[in-house]
Amino acid sequence: ERERLSRLRAKPAITLDGLKVELLANIESPDDCVAALAAGAEGVGLFRSEFLFMNRAGALPDEDEQFDAYSRVVRAMNGLPVTIRTVDVGADKPLDRISAAELRHEHILNPALGLRAIRWSLADPDMFDVQLRAIFRASAFGPVRLMIPMLSRASEIHATLEAVHRVRSRLDQEGVARGELQVGAMIEVPAAALSMPLFLKYFDFVSIGTNDLIQYTLAIDRADESVAHLYDPWHPVVLKLVLDTIRLATAAGKPVSVCGEMAGDLEFTELLLGFGLRSFSMHPTQLPAVKQKILRTDTQRLQALVAAAVDPESTQAFIQPLARQTRSA
Ligand code: PEP
Ligand code: MG
Repeated sequence: ERERLSRLRAKPAITLDGLKVELLANIESPDDCVAALAAGAEGVGLFRSEFLFMNRAGALPDEDEQFDAYSRVVRAMNGLPVTIRTVDVGADKPLDRISAAELRHEHILNPALGLRAIRWSLADPDMFDVQLRAIFRASAFGPVRLMIPMLSRASEIHATLEAVHRVRSRLDQEGVARGELQVGAMIEVPAAALSMPLFLKYFDFVSIGTNDLIQYTLAIDRADESVAHLYDPWHPVVLKLVLDTIRLATAAGKPVSVCGEMAGDLEFTELLLGFGLRSFSMHPTQLPAVKQKILRTDTQRLQALVAAAVDPESTQAFIQPLARQTRSA
């Protein structure tokens, strides 16, 4: 079994009809790079930087602490691309210390709709600059992609890119070593999925965060047990947003990946391939099985599956047998 897995690790993920698929890892700390490389990941598609910010009582991590963590990942990946997501705290990822929102209000009414992710970064420019400086400095050690969570509108895009430019100029004035950053956006709010031309105009790449895209499209709190049965990744409107995002990015020649749970869920591998997805980012433990499935898929046989999935009356029960039919024996 171990031998079979190590043979699989060295094999590129190529479909039966010869399409190369990129498989990336989602990681939450520098230590996870070991598992990512062992699984055969071709890079990091999502480094959740929250781990540095959560579960600490005192001050937020300073520039050197962040630089240390980010550069450890970049060095460990040894020339493979590393996608570092700026901090996404709030909602299901609470901070221990008093958050800015709590300072302003007595309590947060709707954390998932509140001050989280890029909103929090833009509300605290000093903290955002510290994180951007650390990421720029880490990019001196290998290819880094900067990824921004939860963007939903032009004003946020402009403010974000201004911050990136401001930090870059400052570092250059100071003569600090840095590399070049690719800058990308997560597509995880319906408003973003529905304004792809805007996002494609400003960003080098996009990555679809299906976990939040499901939550916000269906108005289902991803952390609320009482509505968990309605948190449905098979909802045809969710799938239509994923499909359109992939198609529009591909047509514009911009890299697009999926980094939500859907990318590592074997039930969705064929469908996402059928949608035209060629880059998947997932927890390292999922990677070998997803690769195995890609090796057995013929993307020429996926048209009916794709059409059925976005039919307004489609359901999981309707789609799954169709997915099975696309697999070779
Ligand atoms: C997502 O929303 O799909 C995602 C990848 O980000 P997170 O789960 O960290 O919110
Ligand atoms: Mg998210």
